[in-house]
Amino acid sequence: MPFAATVLTLYPEMFPGPLGASLAGRALREGAWSLDTVQIRDFATDRHRSVDDTPAGGGAGMVLRADVLAAAVDHARERQPDAPVLAMTPRGRPLDQARVRSLAEGPGVTVLCGRFEGFDERIFEGRQVEQVSIGDYILSGGEMAALVLLDACIRLLPGVMGAASSGMDESFETGLLEYPQYTRPVDWEGRTIPEVLRSGDHARIEAWRRASAESDTRLRRPDLWERHEGARARPPSGARHENGTK
Ligand code: SAH
Repeated sequence: MPFAATVLTLYPEMFPGPLGASLAGRALREGAWSLDTVQIRDFATDRHRSVDDTPAGGGAGMVLRADVLAAAVDHARERQPDAPVLAMTPRGRPLDQARVRSLAEGPGVTVLCGRFEGFDERIFEGRQVEQVSIGDYILSGGEMAALVLLDACIRLLPGVMGAASSGMDESFETGLLEYPQYTRPVDWEGRTIPEVLRSGDHARIEAWRRASAESDTRLRRPDLWERHEGARARPPSGARHENGTK
């Protein structure tokens, strides 16, 4: 069975959107993955078809109703009982390559896209929904976040990309940023490609790439570097902390 994505949204017309182009689009047309959208509004029960209401306790904006969301989630689960259900929210666990890889290895994913002020909190426990963030900034809706999540999964599916690109060199796969890349021309506006990369000496190239990946990670992403160093220092049998804290 190919990887099946179901997106629960108020804006189904946003899909496949950019995922209809390039490699993901070709893979979609070739059946390497499938996409279904579910209009959350179809599960509203009142005559105004309302999906949201004012926040309990007061404040600006509107909140997506748990009962309407639950009906949409139940519908999606019935069709695809094995796929995990994820809600896109800045309050969620930050998405990382390890989670992307495990999702891509599974049967697919059901993604709940928020709007307005977000979701009634009770939906998460009430329907076992995993909360996922794509970063520390606020989007206007979960659709873009869902596209990001799906793109990251789809490129890992068998046959979607050339073997080279899904390899273990990529940033984050090793817990480090990738080394810098160059291509011809050798001299561009007086800036040249590092000599070692033109040496043909594979051991030296490998050493340079590793050193660059390490120093770039240390300088640009001290958070990743600390985790990487921590993982190296910890004994292999040592307890792993899932939430990333120590
Ligand atoms: N009031 C909320 C933000 C709502 S933004 C808060 O402060 O936490 C509206 C919707 O956009 C959210 O429900 C979510 O689905 C989506 N969204 C916004 N930023 C996001 C992010 N960083 N990651 C994932 N989804 C996000």
